Formats: sequence, C-alpha cells, structure tokens
Amino acid sequence: TTIQMQCHLPIPQPPAPQPLTSRHVAVIGAGAAGLVTALELRREGHSVVVFERGDQVGGTWVYTPKIESDPVGFDPARTTIHSSLYKSLRTNLPRECMGFRCYPFVTKDDPDRDPRRYPGHREVLLYLQDFTREFGIDELVRFETEVVRVRLEEEEEKWKIKSKQRSGKDETEIFDAVVICNGHYTEPRVAQIPGINEWPGKQMHSHNYRVPEPFRDQVVVLIGSSASAVDISRDIAGVAKEVHVAARSVADETSGEQSGYDNMWLHPMIESVHKDGTVIFQDGRFVHADIILHCTGYKYHFPFLETNGIVNVDDNRVGPLYKHVFPPALAPCLSFVGLPWKVVPFPMFELQSKWIAGVLSNRFALPTQEKMMEDVEAFYSSLEASGVPKRYTHNMGSSQFEYNNWVAAQCGCPENEDWRVQMYNTSSKNKRAQPESYRDDCEDHHLVLQACEDFMKYTS
Ligand code: FAD
Repeated sequence: TTIQMQCHLPIPQPPAPQPLTSRHVAVIGAGAAGLVTALELRREGHSVVVFERGDQVGGTWVYTPKIESDPVGFDPARTTIHSSLYKSLRTNLPRECMGFRCYPFVTKDDPDRDPRRYPGHREVLLYLQDFTREFGIDELVRFETEVVRVRLEEEEEKWKIKSKQRSGKDETEIFDAVVICNGHYTEPRVAQIPGINEWPGKQMHSHNYRVPEPFRDQVVVLIGSSASAVDISRDIAGVAKEVHVAARSVADETSGEQSGYDNMWLHPMIESVHKDGTVIFQDGRFVHADIILHCTGYKYHFPFLETNGIVNVDDNRVGPLYKHVFPPALAPCLSFVGLPWKVVPFPMFELQSKWIAGVLSNRFALPTQEKMMEDVEAFYSSLEASGVPKRYTHNMGSSQFEYNNWVAAQCGCPENEDWRVQMYNTSSKNKRAQPESYRDDCEDHHLVLQACEDFMKYTS
C-alpha cells in the first residue's frame, strides 16, 4: 500500500462480476461429447441446438458394416462413413472408469445387455441412448442435419451457421456461441512410405476395417501400435496367411515372432516398398505382401469452420487453444470439446463442457486474451523443449488427470476420483502386459467396490 501511495498508482480492483446470462448455443455433433455438452449447457440455462448429420445419437459408437468408397481415404470426394468401429470391438477401458460421472456406466439387469466390464460396442451405444433418454437430450437434437459452415459475423459478434438437411434443404441461423464436438476418428492419417505409388498391392486404413474375412489367406502388413492395431492384428491373424506388424516403437530386440502365434511377426517401421510387391523393414528384413493396413490414426478435421485463419490445424495441432478448449481470440464463444487423446474421454468431456457452460453464462471468468495466449505459447514452448512433435499436442496419457483436476477446479467440481485414476493405471498396465486377455482377467475388484460405492450417489 505504501508503495502504491508513493507512486500514486491506482489500487488494482478485481473485475466487476458480470451478470449471469443465457446464450443461444449451437453444438456440432451428438456423440458422447455433444450429448453431455448439451446437458451441461441446458443445466446452466442456455438454449441449445445440437446439429447431428447422422440419424441417431452415439457418434463413433454407431457401428455400421458399410465402408467408404476409397478404403485408404485419399479421395476427398469419397462418401464419408463416420464410425471407425470394427465388429469385434470391445471397450479398452473398464466400464466403471469409462462412464460419465453424473451417469455411471453400470451393468443393466437385462438379458439383452452385455454385462462385461469391457463390453462390446453395442453396449456403449445403448448406454449413450439411455443417457440421452434419461436427460431428455433428444429434443435438443436436429438429426440428419450437417453443419456445412460456421462463420463469425464480426460486426454483430454472432456466429452464422449454415446447415444442410438430408432432404437437401439449407438453412442459415445465428447463434451467440458454438461448441464443436464433431469427433476426431473419421479422417484417416496415413504414413508416408517411399515407393507406395508403385507398389501393386491393396491398401486400407483401419477406419474401413470391419471384419477379418477379406484378409483370409493374405499376407498382411499392418502399420501401427495403438489399441486398434493390437486388436485388429489379432483379429486378422485368425484367418490371414501371415500378419507382419510394423511399428515405430519396435526395437530390434523385440522384433520377431509374436508369442502365442505362428503367423504373426513384429517389425520396426517400413523402410520402402517396391514394384514387385516387396515390403522392406528398417532392419533390412522384407516380405512379399498382398495388403497394407494402415492403423496410423486420424486427423482433426473441421471442414465447416471459417475463422479467418485464427484457428488452424497444423501437423494435427488444433490451435491456438487455451487448455485444449478455447481459442483465445474467439473465446468464449467458440470452443472445442474432446480434442485430447489417450484419455478417459467421457468424464473429461463432462468437465470441459461444464467449464464452457459456466464461462458462457459468466459464472466463471477466463483470463484476458493476452494471458490465455501467453499460457498457450508457454505450453507450446514446453512441448518443443521436451522434443514433443506438434502432432502430439493433444496427446495426454498420464497428464490427463492433472488436466481434469485443473478444469474441475475452474468449475468448483470435485477432482478425479482416486479409484478412477488407479483403475485407469491398472488397466493400462494390464493391456500392455496381456493384450489378449486384459479384458477378462482383471484383479482390481477392490477398485470396482470403491466405484460402486461412489455410484450410489447417482443411482440410489
Ligand atoms: P464422435 O463419437 O465421433 O461423435 C461426433 C458426432 O459429430 C458424430 O455423431 C458425427 O455424425 C457428428 N458430426 C460430425 N461432423 C458433423 C457436422 N459437420 N455436422 C453435424 N454433425 C457432425 N473411448 C472410450 O471411452 N472407450 C473405448 O473403449 C474406446 N474405444 C474406441 C475405439 C475406436 C476404434 C475409436 C475410433 C474410438 C474409441 N474411443 C473409446 C474413443 C471415442 O471416440 C470416444 O469414446 C467418443 O465416442 C468420442 O465422442 P465424440 O462425441 O467426441 O465424437
């Protein structure tokens, strides 16, 4: 105080609290992220319209046997299929850990339901349908309505959304804010392989993998080491002649025949492919393959978004974004839910959308645009200093719980439950140690008991 008086500086005052406000908000997508966002926005008193290009809720979890007209995904004019699920898919997280906090993913006493802790994909879709029904979200969703353009009307500070119904009818409407929840497992990413244009074999991206049958008696090279790559390689090994898995993380000493299989081998990455059908790996070994299956992930893709260059996707970094949610220059009226990967998605979506809903109503304040930008730049610099490539900007893994706790603190919500963190860690460890059996062979029953005790708050 003394210094301030001597220098005649005004004493800084906290900004006056703004009155609470209700806004007209567009949500793009009715997958898990869009559904919980709609719920949180409505709880906060906003009016909500959810645009969904499909004919039902659930996004990724709506399995279809259909595949795209270009199985690798190069052709921009190809028909797009949203979901990347394969028929045999079971969750890679235990259900207790995976569900929303406010609506636990518990087993239903119904013979038509899958009671397993790592259920098949249909059970997740049914859970999301239950969630939608329980909270009456359907009435907020416009099905078969694709958002084709999102543009800021700068003078009015409003967002103009152009949508197209399946019937062909276009509509343009004005909103105060837009939350993007369009998912990021639809637009394939493929590895650059020297010689691929001359290579005579077939190619497919895992986005279009459904069942192993087309791989019967084939020599398959599968690229990748993600959860899907692990599942799909085993699915295919049941029918293929040979499966050769090429992965960046494979060191010379771990390459070779996969234990438990007489037709599956692990290799380092592909060095090059050739006109005669040969695929050469980085350790000099080679095979003659019939098909390359790219399990190499996906690109963030917002073909509808026009921000005059303010938000960009650069080497799979969506930015600049404050805490993976708000572009500082357009906050809070443009936001993204669900960008982080290698996470437990549903509870994270819940926290991000609570934060957005409260910021839009003025119940929570964001830092100034400059402060948010400083934070983003410091984050990007820290990634660079640790040698993390841009494309891993939204990869969280072990830092997800610290992030969730930070977002929870912004909203005055409780932190991650200890059992959820421990269950995630145990399940991740098990998955690495026993990729075939981790779903049915778990020893974390004490954590299940803790989870069920916690769920009583919501289910009793
Ligand atoms: P999505 O579910 O993809 O939903 C996006 C929605 O937006 C879709 O309905 C789409 O039709 C709609 N949409 C897109 N563009 C437009 C537009 N322009 N206009 C209107 N609507 C539009 N998570 C887990 O928790 N456990 C698991 O075991 C698990 N396994 C997975 C396995 C695979 C193979 C994949 C691909 C993902 C898996 N995930 C898993 C992650 C999964 O993506 C998330 O659980 C979650 O479903 C993502 O929800 P979302 O709402 O962000 O996106």
